[in-house]
Amino acid sequence: MTNSKENTEKIKTLCHQWGAALFGVADLGSFKKEEVLLSSPWIDRLSCGISVGFHLSDSILEAIEDHPTPLYFHHYQRVNILLDTIGLIITSAIQDLGYQAIPIPASQIVDWKTQKGHLSHKHLARAAGLGWIGRNNLLVNEKFGSRVRLVTILTDLPLMTNPPSIQDCGSCHACLSVCPAGAIKERQENFDHLRCYEQLRTFAKTLHFSHNICGVCVKACRGPK
Ligand code: SF4
Ligand code: SF4
Repeated sequence: MTNSKENTEKIKTLCHQWGAALFGVADLGSFKKEEVLLSSPWIDRLSCGISVGFHLSDSILEAIEDHPTPLYFHHYQRVNILLDTIGLIITSAIQDLGYQAIPIPASQIVDWKTQKGHLSHKHLARAAGLGWIGRNNLLVNEKFGSRVRLVTILTDLPLMTNPPSIQDCGSCHACLSVCPAGAIKERQENFDHLRCYEQLRTFAKTLHFSHNICGVCVKACRGPK
């Protein structure tokens, strides 16, 4: 007989031991399964999405002005590798308990037309109670703002789930004026994806980065004040 409270504590402790700052569990039933771009014989049987967040280095972010720095680019890549490693460690622990687990890559695009991964880590994190989608179109956590990166592990291990966050940006507008592309709007649903994407492509081209990164609105967002 598996105990969901015991399982949750075990997996959560493991995540924190590996450097994670955030841990939450979403009920996959309430998360739109049609948003999961994954063909697996297991997918319909998986009940939970574990969301794990790493708190990015504040000092590295503070050095960003109006474009990403080489140090941030390196940090971004290493954090993705760590998050993928945490995904593997959690998968191994879950399988040892006799259950299924699918670690979703921290940063892998599978649909180039829509620029989507296997699933949206930020939307799953929101469903797991770790924050909300802010005006900058990123997850905003109450404690760390948008200064986090995320990974997801899908599983059928019985776990205690968290309710989705109902908070929002409130009166904060700290990210609006800093965006070099003018992509961030008053209303999150008006976020200009194309402008943001074009700005990231320009950074990648002119700064010789192999990934589309920015970091400007990540730095600006420390959560609503
Ligand atoms: S990532 Fe950069 S370009 Fe995109 S919204 Fe944030 S600040 Fe603007
Ligand atoms: S900086 Fe403020 S307005 Fe922008 S996403 Fe963060 S909390 Fe929301």
